[in-house]
Amino acid sequence: MTKFEALGLKQSLLNAISDLGFESPSEVQEKAIPILLESETDLVALAQTGTGKTAAFGFPLIQKIHSDSRTTQGLILSPTRELCLQITNELQLYSKYEKGVNVVAIYGGASITDQARQIKRGAQIVVATPGRMKDMIGRGLVDISKIDYCVLDEADEMLNMGFMEDIKDILSNTPKEKSTWLFSATMPREVSVIAKKFMHSPQEITVGTKNSGATTVQHEYYVVGGRDRYPALKRLADTNPDIFSVIFCRTKRDTQKVAEKLIEDGYNAGALHGDLSQNQRDLVMNSFRKKQIQMLVATDVAARGIDVDDITHVINYQLPDEIETYTHRSGRTGRAGKSGISMVIVTRSELRKIKAIENKIQQDFISKKIPTGMEICEIQLYHLANKIKDTKVNEEVDNYLPAINDVLQGIDREELIKKIISVEFTRFFNYYNKTKDLNTSDSGDRAERGRSRDGDSRVPADGNVRYFINVGEKDGYDWMSLKDFLRDTVNLGKDDIFKVDVKDSFSFFNTDAAATEAILKTFTEFKVDGRFVNVEVSKNPGGGGGRGRRDRSRSGGGRDSRDNDRNKGRRRDRSAAKGSPSSSSGKRRTKRKSDFF
Ligand code: ADP
Ligand code: MG
Repeated sequence: MTKFEALGLKQSLLNAISDLGFESPSEVQEKAIPILLESETDLVALAQTGTGKTAAFGFPLIQKIHSDSRTTQGLILSPTRELCLQITNELQLYSKYEKGVNVVAIYGGASITDQARQIKRGAQIVVATPGRMKDMIGRGLVDISKIDYCVLDEADEMLNMGFMEDIKDILSNTPKEKSTWLFSATMPREVSVIAKKFMHSPQEITVGTKNSGATTVQHEYYVVGGRDRYPALKRLADTNPDIFSVIFCRTKRDTQKVAEKLIEDGYNAGALHGDLSQNQRDLVMNSFRKKQIQMLVATDVAARGIDVDDITHVINYQLPDEIETYTHRSGRTGRAGKSGISMVIVTRSELRKIKAIENKIQQDFISKKIPTGMEICEIQLYHLANKIKDTKVNEEVDNYLPAINDVLQGIDREELIKKIISVEFTRFFNYYNKTKDLNTSDSGDRAERGRSRDGDSRVPADGNVRYFINVGEKDGYDWMSLKDFLRDTVNLGKDDIFKVDVKDSFSFFNTDAAATEAILKTFTEFKVDGRFVNVEVSKNPGGGGGRGRRDRSRSGGGRDSRDNDRNKGRRRDRSAAKGSPSSSSGKRRTKRKSDFF
């Protein structure tokens, strides 16, 4: 494997890299860094969001500028204030061992005088949003007439946001003989125009396929009636208790409305749109970064450039008008090698849009059903049980224990567990008990049938069986690696496992009924690293309907296997750290679970 050492970076930068914990360069870094270091050239680099583009231009730029001169030598243009700050921050970390290197951020919504003062003190590298940059040039507060390097970061997003004219203006203030490095996730026509107009026979590198979303993203759609969008959204959130998501609406008004409703309904939600003041937007973004907000409802413009890793779900509350916009939305998840899910809530009449997107992104959507009320209850139940299991005991409780014991006297363990669980569970149960099915397309009542109380109720009519398994995200799994794990362990074919839903400490998946015996047999007394891994047939058939179309992205490809290897490593670490749970936990679950219902 290539190491950073092989790319030509100097020792002080390698030290900074090692402090950052980067072990080996990402593909775009491996390709771009040597080119940029070795030659004075223009470059067009296409790589998806989350592939490490900042470091791909950041390190060569820092190595090439002269820190003994205070002249501005490098200009980085980026679409949003958030990104601008992030890049600045990263570059400051990269250059921590360089003496006298100053990186200054220039962006709207903050004092222009302060920024001008920082520039005046000498900034070899300026990171700017186009609007504020143009403003400062106009007022003579910044001089970019001597730069050697100009980086257009997230060029597609800048152009999407209507910065074409500003960029042209800014570039006309730069010298002809500089090098221009353009980084972009996609290559729409406008980007080629910029490349043609402002660059001289640029070298080109492409990582992954052009114009497609990251293959680590699973795309799903849910067909509901037009009025059921909001209840559907709630159910999607309730089936994913640990969701960390961006929810896209089309208008500012809808964005505000949906966020308000979510907050009213007790979710950790926030709104991000252009009618908010910069200050309000900062507050929301900060809470989101700190994960105090789990559901960020945003317009496309406001969300551009949100550069937060770990986003588990992107939810398209409404589809965008432009297909390109969908790519940007779904690119907010599945970053930095993690997997993510992009969900689309559609009405029947919008289904053809799904087709169009599939064509564009070269990836199939999976048709999924909005979970039924009882499925949500089941998930919440496991979530709660796991939460109790993982809760650290507060020793302060000891002081009150005698009194508490008095109160709870005479209640046996089984009963006590039921009561504890009911405290929270009843809330969901009462809410969802007897609620209607939100799915509008065919076979809407399939899930209901699967739930009937007769003997073989757990095998739904379509022959799919849904399982519960007691490992999840906390054990280092995502939907891809869990699928691989199950496939390898039970020795099943590539497409035999579907509808994999990974939750925090447990998961669900489906197979055809024919595989049930093999699965249950394999997972009898089955241990991974000393820990019991238990699989049971779920009470709810889950996801309704037949198996969705499979995503092409899973059919081979180096990326998948690399991710899996890493995940396996991670999994081992985590379970080892946790220690082995008691050996009875696996065996007893069946009984307990049925008792709760
Ligand atoms: P992009 O600009 O392509 O969307 P970023 O430059 O924002 O991606 O990088 C995404 C994330 O990956 C960041 O958190 C960054 O710190 C991390 N990262 C970048 N390069 C590496 C690397 N070589 N090894 C590990 N993590 C990396
Ligand atoms: Mg970037």
